[in-house]
Amino acid sequence: MKIEAGVATDIGRVREGNEDSYLVEPPLYAVADGMGGHRGGEVASQLALETVEELARSGTGSLADQVREANRAVFERAQGDPAVSGMGTTLTAARFEGAAAHLAHVGDSRAYLLRAGSFRQLTEDHTLVNRMVQAGEITREEAEVHPHRNVVTRALGTEADVQVDVEDVSLMDGDRVLLCSDGLFAMVTEEQIQAILETDPDPQKASDRLVKAANRAGGIDNITVVVMDAHDDGEEPTPPRRAGEPGSRVLARWLGGVAVALVVLTGAVFAGRGWVDDQWYVGAANGHVAIYQGVPAQPLGIHLSHVALQTDLLASEVEKLELYRNLETGINADDRAAADDIVAAMRRDLKASRHHRGANAA
Ligand code: MN
Repeated sequence: MKIEAGVATDIGRVREGNEDSYLVEPPLYAVADGMGGHRGGEVASQLALETVEELARSGTGSLADQVREANRAVFERAQGDPAVSGMGTTLTAARFEGAAAHLAHVGDSRAYLLRAGSFRQLTEDHTLVNRMVQAGEITREEAEVHPHRNVVTRALGTEADVQVDVEDVSLMDGDRVLLCSDGLFAMVTEEQIQAILETDPDPQKASDRLVKAANRAGGIDNITVVVMDAHDDGEEPTPPRRAGEPGSRVLARWLGGVAVALVVLTGAVFAGRGWVDDQWYVGAANGHVAIYQGVPAQPLGIHLSHVALQTDLLASEVEKLELYRNLETGINADDRAAADDIVAAMRRDLKASRHHRGANAA
């Protein structure tokens, strides 16, 4: 197959920096969406893709090996540099070989395939909400608007080792593969993405239009897309594999396939602990308002949060105020300071309402 590609990345309309990175190094293509403050996200996504690019050029290991190596590189940098500690990144890559596309994936960026009018996601999101969907706790529609839809359960750079999903796709003439960061599909529906991909035959123009659509819808996140078209070039469809490859591929694919079940059962849910620990919310504990670190969800009964501070405010009192009636389910905070601010606001509002009631009574 001959591959023709287009690529576009944009900061979006809200963020102050672009923490997404992409790699277009035929026959290898990838997107990475970095996370972490102080430019950490930018460092993480760039370092991950540079590592994969270097290893791919020297032909070292499989694509999954290269992604695991990228994980180590980001992890070590994060450990060694306080300025970027806690950084991480998603990575979704496609390497074309003959009539096959080899995919490697970690995180919540996505790969899609458009083939003869059908559009389907090739990757599995490594997110808390996706796990809850698979456990039957929420629907796909609920996941899209869930307050914790951004919590990633697997990322590069947060642990010394990472499990990489792999998938091989046999390509057909006319196939169009899309790699994208969540800044696209968080803003634009899959139907809209498909419609754009179907109406613009030029991969570069299609890429530009996808980014434009995400920005028009609000552009709340960085947006990165790579569009790759496979054209039959009349050559030998699949080159003979090198000895030893099929075994490792099959094993890797098998690991990827049962990953969802194993991850939950073995408690590897904590592979993403770094990310879960970055979340804060205000809820109730022992009848009092409390600040929690983690997320309120309990997929499959696994607790993903703990009380960081129990206050003297009575939950029953605070819940009477319209603003805080959802206290029991948890009120989201961006960080610990924001959680403290919410508690301080509760204290003020409670005082004001008492004062108000007192004044009415008088
Ligand atoms: Mn993003």
